[in-house]
Amino acid sequence: QPITTDMATLTKQVKKFATDKKLEIETLKVREEYRREFLGNVSHELKTPLFTVQGYLATLLDGAMNDKNIRKKYLERAEKGVERLVYIVEDLDMISKLEMGDVNLEMSDFNIVELVQSVFDLLEMKADQKNIILMFDRKYSKPIKVFADKEKIQQVLINLVMNSIKYGKENGTTEVSIEDLVNDKLIVRIKDNGEGIEKHNIPRLFERFFRVDKSGARSEGGSGLGLSIVKHIIEAHGEKIYVESEFGKSSEFSFTLEKG
Ligand code: ADP
Repeated sequence: QPITTDMATLTKQVKKFATDKKLEIETLKVREEYRREFLGNVSHELKTPLFTVQGYLATLLDGAMNDKNIRKKYLERAEKGVERLVYIVEDLDMISKLEMGDVNLEMSDFNIVELVQSVFDLLEMKADQKNIILMFDRKYSKPIKVFADKEKIQQVLINLVMNSIKYGKENGTTEVSIEDLVNDKLIVRIKDNGEGIEKHNIPRLFERFFRVDKSGARSEGGSGLGLSIVKHIIEAHGEKIYVESEFGKSSEFSFTLEKG
């Protein structure tokens, strides 16, 4: 850069340099804060299932192993804990990739009707346990093509339908519907008649690790990452996600997609 002797220009340059540095430091501070908070949350999430597994194994080694029935029961519980750890680690892996912008979307044309059906097949047993009916209107017997990352949209559907079952009422319903929008878009809705979400919690739903702190939600054993993953995937597609809910009655999550 040319050396300037003009005092006014020099002062301006120094000021700009200082402001830039200050901004840089602020950004680093925010990142550091984010990193610390993330690590704190992660270890907190991992601790519960780890202690569960450790507890059952220790009790088994302590003598419970000698009783055939207890042995089976405790081993099954320990296995459940490990299963949960695997889910959490997979979610964490996904969210860190999404938040770093480290995902490539593999875009293709596919039939969304078929994808919804496959997700229903996958979650039917879970729904049956609560006697929840998964509904998808007969009018969707014809294929509906969309242009998106199929695997990621499957993940979105799994998370949303799974939530509608987890937070749905016994004997309730989950209904998926698809509607055309203008501009070559369509909207997919997942509606349940479950516990609903209080208004003041709605803005926080998509935050990492956020859960409406109820014992019910806890026992369902989510990581609080599901909706955050969903939002990242939809936004990576340049699409939008919406939520509407009536507390105690129903919730509806919906997202847009590009038609194929
Ligand atoms: P989790 O692993 O806890 O299910 P999510 O990110 O998927 O995490 O959801 C965050 C929270 O939002 C849940 O803990 C639950 O309280 C609330 N929630 C999500 N989906 C629904 C729904 N369909 N009905 C009622 N509450 C819901």
